[in-house]
Amino acid sequence: MELKKISVNTASPELPRAKVLIIYTGGTFGMVKDKSGALVPFDFSLILEHLPTLRNLFLELTVISFATPIDSSNINPYHWKLLAGIIHENYVEQDGFVVLHGTDTMAYTSSALSFMLQGLNKPVIFTGAQLPIAEPRSDARENLITALEIASAKLDGKALVPEVCIFFGAQLIRGCRAKKVESRHFDAFHSENYPILAEAGVIIEYNLNAIRKADDKPLQLIRGFNNNVAILKLFPGITEPVINQILATPNLKGLVMETFGSGNSPTETWLVDALQSAIKNGLVIVNITQCPGGMVEHGKYETSKFLEQIGVLSGKDMTTEAAITKLMIGLAESSDIKKFILSSIAGERS
Ligand code: ASP
Repeated sequence: MELKKISVNTASPELPRAKVLIIYTGGTFGMVKDKSGALVPFDFSLILEHLPTLRNLFLELTVISFATPIDSSNINPYHWKLLAGIIHENYVEQDGFVVLHGTDTMAYTSSALSFMLQGLNKPVIFTGAQLPIAEPRSDARENLITALEIASAKLDGKALVPEVCIFFGAQLIRGCRAKKVESRHFDAFHSENYPILAEAGVIIEYNLNAIRKADDKPLQLIRGFNNNVAILKLFPGITEPVINQILATPNLKGLVMETFGSGNSPTETWLVDALQSAIKNGLVIVNITQCPGGMVEHGKYETSKFLEQIGVLSGKDMTTEAAITKLMIGLAESSDIKKFILSSIAGERS
């Protein structure tokens, strides 16, 4: 994929207080109307026309843009590797990173990068917008400005938020705990089973106890993905042919199974037998709940006890986005997939 480097001239008499790299991938954020009224991606080098106030942040900004910005529905592991690679290459010279990304799959990308950037001690803040930047009521301006503030915030000379996060609306959310919950309102994301890391009002109030502590390790980039995976959402009345069809997918190596309540599933013999023989043949199955709150507790009910007995792994309180990206990485990179899934890699499970 072709990339464009754009330098934004935010020169001011004051020395910049930090260096931030903006990576622009596309999404609603940068859309403008063309002559026919259709929404097309804007030319990022014109950002100062839309946001002259960027100069007042006293930051040195560099922008790397996808030459052809894309809707986030087209994002896949290729782009995750590209983004993590750009961050890795620019890691030493930048103080923080802001990734502009469509909202639709932002939580998948932020989850993937949380696992890929091991030992991160600088902020990687994802943001986007529900309304294009050229619209008078757009949320793009506030989202970008606050994301830049967070990406450059320091405490005792160290990054205040050394994590992959999403900033959206007024909330800063850990990237591997985020879920898109709204397609129309400005508060599009929710933090699942974890407190928000900051709330932006008149001031940005950081929840220091919830923010991950930086470890003094060098950044390690994990690049492997195995996307021979699937998500199976159970529902009352699901039939044997549907289950068999999914389990018979050629090359299937991992399955995230979304179950009911605290991890419960129908106990019909055909289902138990099908899951058990798939696991015996090497399939890794991770159980997560369809509930937005709470967690999988194997054995709490009889309807989950058998899952543990046949070797289904508990995804505890992971989001679907975290579970599926972690499974893809674990299948490619880990020599002990069970341990990898059952431990917390980036604060994605309690
Ligand atoms: N479809 C758009 C995208 O995810 C929506 C957005 O940006 O909010 O790229």
